[in-house]
Amino acid sequence: MSVEKKASIKKTERKAAKSGAGKTATTFFGFEPYQAKRGEEYMSPRQVEHFRNILLSWRRELMEEVDRTVTHLQDDAGTFADPNDRATQEEEFALELRTRDRERKLIKKIAESLRQLGTGDYGYCEACGVEIGIQRLEARPTATLCIDCKTLDEIREKQMV
Ligand SMILES: [Zn+2]
Repeated sequence: MSVEKKASIKKTERKAAKSGAGKTATTFFGFEPYQAKRGEEYMSPRQVEHFRNILLSWRRELMEEVDRTVTHLQDDAGTFADPNDRATQEEEFALELRTRDRERKLIKKIAESLRQLGTGDYGYCEACGVEIGIQRLEARPTATLCIDCKTLDEIREKQMV
């Protein structure tokens, strides 16, 4: 894309943002950052809906990913007679299995977040109870700790090593 074109797009973006019709900044999976109304309470029904949509599309994405991995593993199984090829293949499988394991854990976390959305516990720090905040949740929809507790947690983890 040419520089001028980029610049002109930027200008349009700015204009759009000013008029309040900006559709430029996106967050997780192309969701627009949540615009809270003045005086809107934290985790209002509209916010709950917003995060439910984010979590559901994320989960859908991950599940498709898991499906692809499974199909891939099945397709490739037993296609190599050469031991060297097999070794490489086994490494690939191990890597894919780890990825799948991570995805499965994430799917579990998402399910837990969805459950919390239903019970009204979503968006509050597990450790200290403060609001985690919309911005942080949009970046990490499964966050269960506020940024302060998360930072403390990480410091403690480092000290244990
Ligand atoms: Zn906290």
